[in-house]
Amino acid sequence: MQTDNLNKNYLLDYSREEINHYIQDMGMASYRTRQIMQGIYIQKLSDFTGLTTLSKSLRDTLNEKATLRTFKAIKTIKSDNDGTTKFLWSLNDGLKIESVIIYEGDRVTFCISSQVGCALDCQFCSTGKMGFLRNLSSGEIVEQVILMMEQAERPATNIVYMGMGEPLLNLKNVIKACYILSDPEGLAFSRKKITISTSGIAPAVRKLADMDAPFSLAISLNAVFEEKRRLLMPVSENFPLEMLIDNIRYYVSKTGKRVTFEYILIDGINDSKKDADQLIKLTNKLPCKINLIPCNSTDPRYPPTPNDRAKWFADYLHQRGRTATVRLRKGWEIQAACGQLYAENEIKIGRKNTGDD
Ligand code: SAH
Ligand code: SF4
Repeated sequence: MQTDNLNKNYLLDYSREEINHYIQDMGMASYRTRQIMQGIYIQKLSDFTGLTTLSKSLRDTLNEKATLRTFKAIKTIKSDNDGTTKFLWSLNDGLKIESVIIYEGDRVTFCISSQVGCALDCQFCSTGKMGFLRNLSSGEIVEQVILMMEQAERPATNIVYMGMGEPLLNLKNVIKACYILSDPEGLAFSRKKITISTSGIAPAVRKLADMDAPFSLAISLNAVFEEKRRLLMPVSENFPLEMLIDNIRYYVSKTGKRVTFEYILIDGINDSKKDADQLIKLTNKLPCKINLIPCNSTDPRYPPTPNDRAKWFADYLHQRGRTATVRLRKGWEIQAACGQLYAENEIKIGRKNTGDD
């Protein structure tokens, strides 16, 4: 990506190999790549001035041609309760995205966005109400992580694509960002601790399996009957549950990995015994864990399942051999659910996403 404001090359978009080509084209020696990677990802420099392993003239040349930052921090909100910190960033074209740090015991999860808005229109989701505006570049995905690393109380243990957007509709940039984040000469983040979360783009799940991408996969299931799922998640019209589950089974058998199912519990809508039975049926012999999340919503049509019922639901699954946990949404009081900070700031109606590239 060329940044509009500065007309410079945005090096967070570049893999190590691309940085290597880029600097060689500028006449620099190949071994400089390692120094530059160190500067970007270990020192977390915001420009090349502090990269003292390079001569002043090389630093000046890089500063002239390339940039390492395109975000402006618009808002940061931290919960006094549990430390959850939510960031609203303005991108170089003025569009806004959000990212969240969640502290939970020893876990420090960075929740990142993959798109500005989302085309998929899930009824309970604030991001869905924005419509789709654009895909994030891989550098914009990486920049969220670097900036949050500077602010976090402790190092991140997990990175999840559970902010704005549908990562599997921006597959190329998302996968590239995952590789950049896990580059051993950069941040070296553990690959299996990076989780891509999808609402169920079934063909892309199959593609991920075929690519043998070494990252983790979560599927936002949220409903186990086709009709109900279509009402809550219109994506099911294109990629019905049956096709989705088939492709997940393919993914699991091809990769040997287990998947995570995210299941938002909505009072009286998807939390009955019948729902639980069907969830058990769908996940029969499927290596998985199930995260139950009482819906975090200000919309009275989607009230959260009360905690005692959520616990009943989890126990019911558990007794039938499923690994299920109730995850109370952190940061309720700062509206940490997907898209909510943005929604509070402004509502935009976007165009429809046409998919990856
Ligand atoms: N588009 C992807 C990833 C971003 S959404 C996906 O749908 O998986 C990340 C998660 O936020 C999803 O699991 C989604 O179900 C959840 N989510 C959205 N709105 C929510 C709400 N109001 N309460 C609780 N979780 C919500
Ligand atoms: Fe998009 Fe995920 Fe929100 Fe659905 S839940 S609208 S897929 S971001």
